Amino acid sequence: METIESIVIVGAGQAGGWVAKTLRAEGFRGHVHLVGEEDHLPYERPPLSKAVLTGDAGDESTYLFDAPAFDALQVTLHRGLRAESVDRETRTVALDNGERLSYDRLVLATGSRVRRLDLPGSDLPAVTYLRDLADCTSLREKLSTAHRLAVVGGGWIGLEVAASARKLGLEVTVLEAADRLCARALPPRLSDFLAARHRAHGVDVRLGVGIESFRPTPDGALDVVLAGGDAITVDLVVVGIGVIPETTLAQAAGLDVDNGVVTDAVGRTVDPHVFACGDVTNHHSGFLGRRVRLESWANAQNQGIAAARAALGIDTDYADVPWFWSDQYDLNVQMLGVPERWSEPVIRGDMEAGAFTAFYLDGDMLDAVVAVNSARDIAVARRLMERRIRVNAGRLADPGVKLQSLLKG
Ligand SMILES: Cc1cc2nc3c(=O)[nH]c(=O)nc-3n(C[C@H](O)[C@H](O)[C@H](O)COP(=O)(O)OP(=O)(O)OC[C@H]3O[C@@H](n4cnc5c(N)ncnc54)[C@H](O)[C@@H]3O)c2cc1C
Repeated sequence: METIESIVIVGAGQAGGWVAKTLRAEGFRGHVHLVGEEDHLPYERPPLSKAVLTGDAGDESTYLFDAPAFDALQVTLHRGLRAESVDRETRTVALDNGERLSYDRLVLATGSRVRRLDLPGSDLPAVTYLRDLADCTSLREKLSTAHRLAVVGGGWIGLEVAASARKLGLEVTVLEAADRLCARALPPRLSDFLAARHRAHGVDVRLGVGIESFRPTPDGALDVVLAGGDAITVDLVVVGIGVIPETTLAQAAGLDVDNGVVTDAVGRTVDPHVFACGDVTNHHSGFLGRRVRLESWANAQNQGIAAARAALGIDTDYADVPWFWSDQYDLNVQMLGVPERWSEPVIRGDMEAGAFTAFYLDGDMLDAVVAVNSARDIAVARRLMERRIRVNAGRLADPGVKLQSLLKG
C-alpha cells in the first residue's frame, strides 16, 4: 500500500478542523497542514448569528479546540493564508505567500461564501453580510449604535439576525422577495408560523418585496428603495440571501464541480488523492440516495470525520439523516430530511403554544420532520428515519401514543 506522509487540508473551518482532529484520532503520524485564510483557529459559525452576535457569549466559545488541545494535535496551521492553486500532477498546493506544500492526500474544506447583492449603493459600508467572526465582530459594533435595521432575505441567517437585533432593542424590518419566509427550506405552514412569531416580537416582516437600491440620506442614515419607489430609512442593512460553495480552487484544479465539488458520500472526488467535505461538497447522500449540498453544522462535522477516514484508506460510511437547527427568540427549530416536495403534515403538539412537531410522510415512511421546541421528538424521529420504520399518521398525531413506541414498528 502507498504510504501517506503528508496531508494538506485547505480551509480551517469546522469541517477542516474535524479532518485534522480525526486524522490524529485514527493514528496518522505524518505531517498535517491546515491552510486557513481567516486569522483564527478552526471555529463553529452557528453562534455568530445568535449568542456571539448579541454579546451573550465570547468569540472563544465558538472555537473547536482551545490552544493547548490544538497544539496537542501537532498540526501546522498556515493561518491567515490563502491556498491559491493546486497542481494535481506534482501534488502541490501553492499558498499566497509563495510557499508550496506537497501532499499525498489533499482535503478541500473550503466551505461557502455569501451571495452578494449587486444593486446601486450595495457597496455602501452600512450594507453588511455575516459569514465569519470578523463580520460578526463588526456587525456587533454596528448594532450597538444603530436603531433601525433592515434585513434583506428572510432565510435562516436573516431571521436569526432579526431575532438577535430585536433582543438588542433595534427596530427591525425583514424584506423577503418570496411570498413566504425560509421558502427554500421550510413548508408553507412553518413559514407562516415563523412570520407570525417574528411579527409578535415586533419585526416588520414584508414579503414579496424587491429592492432597487440603497441611498445615503443627508443625516447619515440609509434609504432602502423598494421596487415601486417606496423607501425604508434605516441605519444598517444585513443581507442574508444565501451562500455559494467556495469551489474556486477545485474548479481551477480541474475537479468535477457542479453546484459544489462532486463527491461520493465520504468525500472522494474524481482524483484518488483529493477529497472534499462540508459545505463545499455536492455529495451522494447515503440516506437520501441522491446528490445533495448541505449547509449545516452536522454535515461539516460528520462528513469531515468521514473524509479524513476515507483519505487514510479506512473503510468508512456516511449516511446520516440530514439535520439542521435554528434558534430564534425562545424557539428552537430542528429539521430532519431534505424533501423534494412537502406533503400535508401530521401535527403532534400545539402549534399555537409553539411546541409541536410536523411530520411529512411519503406513503407510510417519514420524509421530513420539522420540530419547534420539541427536541425529544426529533431524537425519536431520527431513529424512525434511520431505520426506515413504517409509521401510522393517526398514531403520530395522538399525544396519548408515546413516540418511542413507534420504534417497535
Ligand atoms: C452565521 C451563521 C449561522 C449558522 N447557523 C447554523 C445553525 O444554526 N445550524 C446549522 O446546522 N448550521 C448553521 N450554519 C451553517 C454552518 O455553520 C456551516 O454549514 C459550516 O460552517 C460549514 O463548515 P465548513 O467547514 O464546510 O465551511 P466554512 O465554515 O465556510 O469554512 C471554510 C473555511 O475555508 C476557508 N477557505 C476557503 N477557501 C480557502 C482557500 N483557498 N485557502 C484558505 N482558506 C480557505 C474559509 O475562509 C473558511 O474559513 C450557520 C452559518 C453561519 C455563517
